[in-house]
Amino acid sequence: MVTIEHGVLLARLTTIGTGGPARALARPRTLSELEEALRLAASEGLEILVVGLGSNMLAADEGVDALVLRLEGELAEVKTLECLLTAGGGATNAVCLHRAHAAGLGGFEFACAIPGTAGGGVRMNAGAYERDWSDILVRALVATAEGTDWLSRKELGLEYRHSSLSTEQVVARVEYRLEPCAPVDIKQTVAELVARRKATQPTNKRTFGSVFKNPGGELGAGQMLELSGLKGRRIGGAVISAKHANFIENAGDATSADCIALMVEARWRVHERFGVELEREVVFTGAIELPALT
Ligand SMILES: Cc1cc2nc3c(=O)[nH]c(=O)nc-3n(C[C@H](O)[C@H](O)[C@H](O)COP(=O)(O)OP(=O)(O)OC[C@H]3O[C@@H](n4cnc5c(N)ncnc54)[C@H](O)[C@@H]3O)c2cc1C
Repeated sequence: MVTIEHGVLLARLTTIGTGGPARALARPRTLSELEEALRLAASEGLEILVVGLGSNMLAADEGVDALVLRLEGELAEVKTLECLLTAGGGATNAVCLHRAHAAGLGGFEFACAIPGTAGGGVRMNAGAYERDWSDILVRALVATAEGTDWLSRKELGLEYRHSSLSTEQVVARVEYRLEPCAPVDIKQTVAELVARRKATQPTNKRTFGSVFKNPGGELGAGQMLELSGLKGRRIGGAVISAKHANFIENAGDATSADCIALMVEARWRVHERFGVELEREVVFTGAIELPALT
């Protein structure tokens, strides 16, 4: 039977380290515990919030009125069989990559610097270095209060940093198709990609990854923010990274409100200079939103 904890701070579940209390938290370890938690939330009229590593998430300082789910146990296990890697929705990308390497399976190296879980990767269609989840995902087992079903990549509606999954749909398991590759080559690729990351991004700070999506033109969001003079701008405990302007760092005592205030100013200044309305990449949870620019 799944146990419920109360008052756990989202700050403990997110990489930026901000956010108030969750109304309730459950850590299902099996598919039946997950289904039980989903039915419980439905019967109580509670919203669901799945948190993977919280690496793309900003939660309201006032807290979140939802049943927060963290997938553990069997729902975070990873197995390989021939060219298929099967992972629980709560399995971290680091563990998936480690298993793929051990099995001599390549194709997941692009995710080496994405600090999330399999479920978070599907939901965000996470990606880097011209590859994303849609390149490797075969299908995902998706649970709701009404039932559980395998959805194909097409049914998941994967687009740039987006899927068609709703907040009630929980990715319980995924299947990735990888390809045979010598472990030494996987190691070499990962080392190169990690070195590139460290040179350009604040990998040793508390952040939630990219703040804004790239708008699709010649300039990326980071370049626009930098050219708008935002590097190093600080509000409260939140700072726009001096290394990469599309990251907000928690300098020690940041609140989510500090991060939002920086995002509001950043969007306004980029709009003023480039006429571009930046769209957030980070997922907001709880009663927070960015005001419209006009
Ligand atoms: C230093 C750093 C670097 C990053 N670099 C990249 C990058 O290169 N490319 C990139 O795309 N992202 C990057 N990110 C952002 C983030 O790591 C990815 O979006 C990641 O896939 C989020 O996974 P997560 O498990 O942490 O999801 P969370 O942040 O916990 O959640 C994100 C969203 O996914 C949902 N979700 C989580 N788990 C599930 C599940 N099992 N079922 C259904 N929905 C779920 C949540 O409810 C939420 O809506 C970076 C973040 C950091 C901190």
